[in-house]
Amino acid sequence: MSDPRATLPALTSLLQLPEVEAAIPTVGHAPMVEALREVLAEVRDAVVSGSAVPAPHRLAEEAIARVESWTGRGLRPVINATGVLLHTNLGRAPLSEAAIAALAAAAGPTDLELDLATGDRGGRGATAQRALARLTGADAALVVNNGAAALVLALMAIGKDREVVISRGELVEIGGSFRLPDIMETAGCRLREIGTTNRTHLEDYRRALDDNTGAILRVHPSNYRIDGFVHRPTTAEIAGVARAARLPFIDDIGSGLLRADPAAPDEPVAAEAIVQGADLVVFSGDKLLGGPQAGILVGDAELIERCRRAPLARALRLDKLRMAALEATVAAYERDATGELPVWAMARTDPATLRGRAESLAAHTGGHAVETEAVLGGGSAPGGRLPSWGVQLPGSPDALAHRLRTGDPAVVVRIVDGRVVLDLRSVPATRDDALAAAVAAARSDADTDTDTGTDTGTDTDPGTDT
Ligand SMILES: *Cc1c(COP(=O)(O)O)cnc(C)c1O
Repeated sequence: MSDPRATLPALTSLLQLPEVEAAIPTVGHAPMVEALREVLAEVRDAVVSGSAVPAPHRLAEEAIARVESWTGRGLRPVINATGVLLHTNLGRAPLSEAAIAALAAAAGPTDLELDLATGDRGGRGATAQRALARLTGADAALVVNNGAAALVLALMAIGKDREVVISRGELVEIGGSFRLPDIMETAGCRLREIGTTNRTHLEDYRRALDDNTGAILRVHPSNYRIDGFVHRPTTAEIAGVARAARLPFIDDIGSGLLRADPAAPDEPVAAEAIVQGADLVVFSGDKLLGGPQAGILVGDAELIERCRRAPLARALRLDKLRMAALEATVAAYERDATGELPVWAMARTDPATLRGRAESLAAHTGGHAVETEAVLGGGSAPGGRLPSWGVQLPGSPDALAHRLRTGDPAVVVRIVDGRVVLDLRSVPATRDDALAAAVAAARSDADTDTDTGTDTGTDTDPGTDT
């Protein structure tokens, strides 16, 4: 008997089918070829194990469906109903209206590095950097790609080929491959560990300093907390030791809280770290600052200048779109209008308001309103909880969560006690109608859908990568 695979149509003949030719202008030639190859390879395997050879039109149909699903796979807007306000997997801080407008306006040519008044070359990011220095009370500021980049840059510019002193309680992994000891190595610093996991004393710092020391580093343990028999010196105490030894003190506070705020009581504050004497303070732009992904360094002018001049600075610089969004975000702080920033609007919403929204949404969706606990997330306040309200939906949680995630708009939820819960603290009120419609669509699919779902991919874990 002849090989059944020989009866499979050739790729070239499939490419000449009218429906394939019609699809190519929209999906592109190369993706179409790849999809057809994939489908042919799968069918070839199936045929070997005894399946019949499908008609060419069936193969084309399958390949077209596949390539169309790929093209829809770019970044898609999501309704974040997880109750995690700064969800790293969902892109952390949503931008303010002003930041979105600034970002769009900067899409064309913009005066990124040109002084329009003089026609001379201007400093990239000067506006945002001046504002950040003013807001934190620092001499100077520098903006780079993200918090991790800011830390690497600072270590490289200041501690290269020298010892950097850090408490054993702060040798943290911030997520994925971002582990403090590795970062230090990458930056060319020698790690000088002091103290113990739970207790590090001022004397440990003092004793570790000698001619080889390049800097003292402190890293906020953003994503975990040790309770009980613990001790860490205060910022002012470490700054005092650093000053006496004429060494720079780098303080990575992580979250980017510019000023103290009752909604984030346990977070280190940038302005506070400067007042207490930290020489260089490092934080993220898209955590509690509420802006785009960025890494911010504020502090002593000479140290900032060293970071700016380090060869790596160019490789870590911020693009114009995010610079524009950051400028607009920082401007909200200068106008004392942080309520314009979605993360702060969400963090400060009164639970009674959330309850009202939950009850209304429950009435529209056949769920019921429940009290929940939201978190700031994004490596902020590991122990911090925000009282919240949500809607609990009946039905198999995994299947429903999957339908919500794959709907339009996509909705990412939390599963609590075996039920889907839509936590409203992380949803802007303006999205309630869209959320209600998405839930209605997902639940009506459920009536016809026999998929009981084993999907456990609903991501409600903010903590692994801060
Ligand atoms: C989040 C965080 C970082 C990394 O910042 P990214 O902006 O995510 O690169 C570094 N240090 C601390 C303490 C953090 O919390």
